[in-house]
Amino acid sequence: MTNATNATNETNATNVVIVGAGPTGLTLACGLARQGVAVRVLERATAHATGSRGKTLNPRSLEILADLGLADALAAVGRTHLPFHKYFEGAFVNETEPFAGVLPSAATPYPASRWLHQPQLEQLLRDRLAELGVTVELGAELVDVRQDADGAEAVLADGRRIPAAYVVACDGGRSTVRKLLGIPFVGEGDPEPMMVCGDVEVEGLEAGAWHQWFGPEGVFMLCPFEDSPRWQLQASPETDADGTMVPPSLESFQRLATRHTGRDDIRLSNATWLSTWRVNVRMAERYREGRVLLAGDCAHVHPTAGGLGMNTGIQDAWNLAWKLGYVVRGLASPALLDTYQEERLPIAAWTLDVTSSGMAAVVAGIDTPGIGVEAGGVGDFTGLSLGYGWSSLAGDGATAALAAGDRAPDAPCPGPDGGPGRLFEHFAGDHFTLLGFGPGARAALTGLPDGLPDGLPGHVRPVALDDPDGEARRAYGITGEALVLVRPDNHIALIAPVTAPGEVHSYLERLGAEV
Ligand SMILES: Cc1cc2nc3c(=O)[nH]c(=O)nc-3n(C[C@H](O)[C@H](O)[C@H](O)COP(=O)(O)OP(=O)(O)OC[C@H]3O[C@@H](n4cnc5c(N)ncnc54)[C@H](O)[C@@H]3O)c2cc1C
Repeated sequence: MTNATNATNETNATNVVIVGAGPTGLTLACGLARQGVAVRVLERATAHATGSRGKTLNPRSLEILADLGLADALAAVGRTHLPFHKYFEGAFVNETEPFAGVLPSAATPYPASRWLHQPQLEQLLRDRLAELGVTVELGAELVDVRQDADGAEAVLADGRRIPAAYVVACDGGRSTVRKLLGIPFVGEGDPEPMMVCGDVEVEGLEAGAWHQWFGPEGVFMLCPFEDSPRWQLQASPETDADGTMVPPSLESFQRLATRHTGRDDIRLSNATWLSTWRVNVRMAERYREGRVLLAGDCAHVHPTAGGLGMNTGIQDAWNLAWKLGYVVRGLASPALLDTYQEERLPIAAWTLDVTSSGMAAVVAGIDTPGIGVEAGGVGDFTGLSLGYGWSSLAGDGATAALAAGDRAPDAPCPGPDGGPGRLFEHFAGDHFTLLGFGPGARAALTGLPDGLPDGLPGHVRPVALDDPDGEARRAYGITGEALVLVRPDNHIALIAPVTAPGEVHSYLERLGAEV
């Protein structure tokens, strides 16, 4: 990486260049474009990826995507309930369903993961991005990043140079940007693939379940997708007489299917994606180098147990989007960007730990009848309990139910138009929300704009909660009166007495302070 120069051949004012149009880059782009930030999304590939890869959106990701305006679109694709059919040495053992009986509640509208394939999500995100006026630039490979005190510059393989205030690397586990920055990717990885994977069509198998064959010879799994003839295949690799791995192919997949299932009526065809997967447990030593930031797989890779890869990337992007937007729009100091690493790097460390333990549990149980992938669920894979209590952005205050830094729960309440609604409708957008519990909060809500830093009054939405049924009080653990400031990413900034609105002002003032 070298310094930015003045010699650039693209001069339109780009605030942020995003490198990589996977789920992380697309979520970030939507979050920034929604704020009016001028963003460009560069994608090296010349066509959008079609391999199924990630297949679950966890509850926290669903909340984020709903906030971005995708709730209805997501409800129309994929499915919520997918039973697991587990077999041992070819014989059916049992059926389980990880989210059986899990129902939405007042505080948690999306309590269960949604099953869909990653290209479906990426298409929805691209459509949303297009509504916001941004199109992914295909065939745009970044080969260098330059920066100095005044700006950054993305250098493309075709010679184009794009100046921007910031560059965000969402370019996957083998990230070019991370390597250019010299940021160590700390951890370990297996040299040999542990799994082969691919997308195939399947005859002879009921498409209402994820079929998982386990046994001393390894694993063979076929997961169907709603709205698609394709299934995702994941299996222990086939080896030849010398013990060498046979590269993935339809023929090899068919031999594996026949051997693990003991059936010759299961026929595979039309393999549209063939790949291998190695165990890699690594994370970037830091997430920011001046004007360049890292997010998603570029910042962390880990076992697939629990399905957290795509979800963690989406949640990185969500944490970063409002912060970068506020900095670019002059609403906050660039120091706010340091809280991105402060908050998300410990989450990556936790993710590496729980997914490694989860993968070890699956591997240990491989020759135990009835074991399936849910053995890997050793942590909170919903994402709902993940907060940032340790962060310098977590202000004071705690209740019996939650504390500053935690995810702000949903609850029924009058909506923004005065009719029946939910807190999440008030939170949706790039603003802070100040919840006032009790009549004593009204004065603080009305007087809120007085004395706020320039620009911020329009970015703090006051909401007086009458809460006759006490749903919001229960969710927030508040019995009397209180002010709760909620960040744009729907985490609690602080909880203050209604008699101390100055605490809210001081908190917001700190956003603009250079530290
Ligand atoms: C078999 C399998 C199953 C999985 N199951 C799950 C699951 O159930 N749940 C889950 O959450 N996750 C799952 N994952 C993981 C998930 O697919 C990844 O974590 C996710 O794709 C990461 O998203 P990303 O946007 O960070 O990176 P990527 O999706 O890797 O996107 C990076 C993009 O950057 C582009 N790029 C790279 N270099 C450059 C460059 N120099 N210039 C421009 N563009 C560049 C690439 O072409 C790519 O499009 C699974 C993965 C696999 C393989």
